[in-house]
Amino acid sequence: MSIAAGSIAVIEFVLDLTIQYCHDRKAFGQKIGSFQNSKFKLAEMTTEAEIGRTFYDQCVLELNEKKLTPEKAAMAKWWLTELELKIVDQCLQLHGGYGYIKEYPIAKAYLNSRVQTIYGGTTEIMKEIIGKSLGF
Ligand SMILES: Cc1cc2nc3c(=O)[nH]c(=O)nc-3n(C[C@H](O)[C@H](O)[C@H](O)COP(=O)(O)OP(=O)(O)OC[C@H]3O[C@@H](n4cnc5c(N)ncnc54)[C@H](O)[C@@H]3O)c2cc1C
Repeated sequence: MSIAAGSIAVIEFVLDLTIQYCHDRKAFGQKIGSFQNSKFKLAEMTTEAEIGRTFYDQCVLELNEKKLTPEKAAMAKWWLTELELKIVDQCLQLHGGYGYIKEYPIAKAYLNSRVQTIYGGTTEIMKEIIGKSLGF
């Protein structure tokens, strides 16, 4: 759950960062956030972040009540860390070339987030845990 906590924090951070960047950066005389693709990407990611936050908070409530099952913790770990990878990647794309410059926080987030699906048990092992709980 602590790794999942890191993921939801990064997701919310890079989204805030990217929304601001899409307001500030202009191309072809308009904010890049006003291009339909950028707007839709931001809308999708904001929706996914809301879903992730809701699921994470629910897991924490269950953890505090000592009701969180290992398989549900595994769901939070794999799903939120994979979502982090996807969202950081899409946010970097919206930064264009600046996204590749190490001084930009989004480039750092891209590098750092890559380990999230590996340590603490890989995504595949999390799915093994969930699969076992289903009787397989
Ligand atoms: C920066 C960092 C910090 C770490 N910190 C700690 C720490 O503090 N404490 C600690 O104990 N460990 C730590 N680790 C180790 C980490 O938990 C392991 O790297 C991780 O569990 C994966 O194990 P592995 O590297 O041996 O990969 P492997 O087990 O060799 O896995 C390689 C690939 O095979 C897949 N795979 C393996 N077994 C199966 C299976 N049964 N079914 C399907 N696919 C499978 C994996 O999902 C992965 O894709 C750290 C690792 C890193 C990178």
